[in-house]
Amino acid sequence: MTHRVAVLPGDGIGPEVTAAAVRVLHAALPACTVTEAPVGATAIASHGKPLPDETLHAARTSDAILFGAVGGPGFDDVPPAQRPESALLALRKTFGLYANVRPARAFAGLEHRSPLRPELVTGMDCVIVRELTGGLYFGPKTIERDDLGVHATETLTYHDFEIERIARFAFDLARTRRKHVTSVDKSNVLVSSQLWRRIVNEVARDYPDVTVVHMLVDNAAMQLVRDPRAFDVLVTENMFGDILSDEAAMITGTIGTAPSASVGAGPNERGFGLYEPISGTAPDIAGRGIANPAAAILSAALLARFSLGEDDAAARIERAVAETLAAGPRTADLDDTAPASTEAFTTAVIGRLGAAVVSEAALRMGV
Ligand code: NAD
Repeated sequence: MTHRVAVLPGDGIGPEVTAAAVRVLHAALPACTVTEAPVGATAIASHGKPLPDETLHAARTSDAILFGAVGGPGFDDVPPAQRPESALLALRKTFGLYANVRPARAFAGLEHRSPLRPELVTGMDCVIVRELTGGLYFGPKTIERDDLGVHATETLTYHDFEIERIARFAFDLARTRRKHVTSVDKSNVLVSSQLWRRIVNEVARDYPDVTVVHMLVDNAAMQLVRDPRAFDVLVTENMFGDILSDEAAMITGTIGTAPSASVGAGPNERGFGLYEPISGTAPDIAGRGIANPAAAILSAALLARFSLGEDDAAARIERAVAETLAAGPRTADLDDTAPASTEAFTTAVIGRLGAAVVSEAALRMGV
């Protein structure tokens, strides 16, 4: 079957890491066709806006988006709608991408890079499922002056259907993994969290084979550093997920290996999605051919799984990346002595795609 992928490289290291990911995707899925289109600062320079119509068209006529990163210096004083980052928000909104999926794994051979003791992170393999289109970031906002001075207000709103669909996503995903869901809220203080907990419990009744634990967000932040291996799937609202997913990524030791998926359908429905590394455009290393492409390549694996239904190709890519991270070569962010280029790492991953030997570490890889 032919698959169509819109590749939006963006700015900084975005073009370098997405080119690497496309090489690997083609090697794993030769029948994949790719359409490249500008986004972010690059698109502002060429088309006068961060998300040109032709880019949106390329996305609409594809099965998924492989996204690099957007942003860079020089946009601090520009209104939000004209900044490179607005393209990403517009894409999420246009395609109703309500579920953000962030795997956080400690890869074999990289445990020493974690700020935690290696024995605490060895084997860490969790996924944070973050609600992406509701909550505090999207509720009504005001900034006004009154008798006391200027006051700013944000509004945290959730409908029951929004909670239900992200909870179902998390439970469906847990069924493909270790069947354990940790639902994170602040129900001792927030009424939106009380609704969250009630709906999660209702959804849980449909998944008797999946264990659910409720955890307050402050405790979840502590437990993640105390024992990150205890977690399988975490599901939480937008802002809590934003914070916890960065914490989890840091515990793994590097953001250079952290992929993400933003999808608008369940994990087994092969819906449209946007896939990107969690890191930014890394202007400090852009254009030097030294960026770590692992996160972009692993994002392509998520794309193959969630949007193309190509589970086998996804697992092969993930194994090849895990084996390359374990055995080398590694890029400069992970190897101070004999760093490999982006291209050399990618070539090594492609070389391992068909490898018959599957290491213990690689077997832990399935999202
Ligand atoms: P960053 O993630 O770009 O860089 C932080 C540090 O990590 C830098 O030292 C960088 O060299 C390093 N790094 C990041 N990715 C790496 C990789 N793949 N390989 C090796 N090293 C890597 O964060 P920042 O510097 O805060 O942001 C730079 C720009 O990126 C800003 O304009 C920001 O707005 C934008 N940004 C975009 C996205 C996105 O497009 N989704 C996300 C975050 C930041």
